[in-house]
Amino acid sequence: PRESSNVRAEAVVDLGAIRHNVATLRARVGTAQLMTVVKADGYGHGMVPVARAAREAGADWIGAAVLEEALALRAAGDTGPIFCWLTTPGEPLEQAIAAGIDLSAAAPWEIDELAAGVTDRPARVHLKIDTGMSRGGAVPEEWPALIRAALREVKAGRLEITGIWSHLSSSDEPKSAANEAQLATFESAVEIAASLGVEPPLRHLANSGGTLALPETHFDLVRPGIATYGLSPFGHELPSSELGLRPAMTLRARLAMVKRVPAGAGVSYGLTWTAPRPSTLGLIPLGYGDGLPRHASNGAPVQAGGARRTIVGRICMDQCVVNLEDAEAAAGDEVVLFGPGTGGEPTADDWADAAGTINYEIVTRLGARIPRRYV
Ligand code: PLP
Repeated sequence: PRESSNVRAEAVVDLGAIRHNVATLRARVGTAQLMTVVKADGYGHGMVPVARAAREAGADWIGAAVLEEALALRAAGDTGPIFCWLTTPGEPLEQAIAAGIDLSAAAPWEIDELAAGVTDRPARVHLKIDTGMSRGGAVPEEWPALIRAALREVKAGRLEITGIWSHLSSSDEPKSAANEAQLATFESAVEIAASLGVEPPLRHLANSGGTLALPETHFDLVRPGIATYGLSPFGHELPSSELGLRPAMTLRARLAMVKRVPAGAGVSYGLTWTAPRPSTLGLIPLGYGDGLPRHASNGAPVQAGGARRTIVGRICMDQCVVNLEDAEAAAGDEVVLFGPGTGGEPTADDWADAAGTINYEIVTRLGARIPRRYV
């Protein structure tokens, strides 16, 4: 890799912050186990380095959405418990089963697929109940049929039921009635399973919001994602600093060009911003091709020369323009797009506000063109 002082741009990922956040989450959940969710390349931070840091800090489980991720973790040498919950018909489940990856099932046909993928050891499955989000999971009417299908394969020695689980729709609003309703449905699903003779060791429901704000959702295992990265699921309502979490990523770039333009100069495609007075503009070599949200055009904040500045004009594929006003600046100077905020730089939440989205999307969409540097 190039020297950090020479790079076009980089996302600096503080693995100490990841370890701190994992340890903080671990301490909050008492005897429950902790699954660190590293899907989507560790929310843009790098799946394998984050998973390693999480294991070091005490994560019992690593959570991946799709099979490629779970298998890549094994290929990278992770031999611990891994849960992978989103499979599609025809995917190579036999590879995952042989690799000892815990999988999810929500319909009898998924149980059949798992059983068909068994070679030398039983498939480990977490049965998913849809408690009200209408995404994955068996709806309550179909829950007993799912359990019976799973029991049939347990008896045949092809399946081990290791968990019952669901996902919260509204834990970012801890007071929402949806949380209570989902919890009640979950508890009733657990009871129905027990009445049919299924009492797996791992009941799990909580994402970051549940982990941080709804202790009654912790059960045997929690599955925080965003909080691992030091970002709050509650946005500005309850910032990460108040949760004792440290944002792990800083996105920085170096100005590719600096120029002085006269009053009236139009900037970027469509000339959607016009300099109201003579202005110094800096060219940031990052754009939507790197994952910056184009919706943050004309308004996203950056820190340059120690001051808060604003992106002016449209964000292009590879570049965007910052208004440096009358500051002294030169090509090669550093700009910080977002970071923990502790040095006055904007945060991922500030970018989310500028783009009309959530902090999750800001970090997760950063593309492979931006090198990650681990510190
Ligand atoms: N569990 C599942 C099934 C998920 O899909 C996700 C991500 O959305 C998480 C846990 C982690 O959620 P969060 O990042 O809100 O903590």
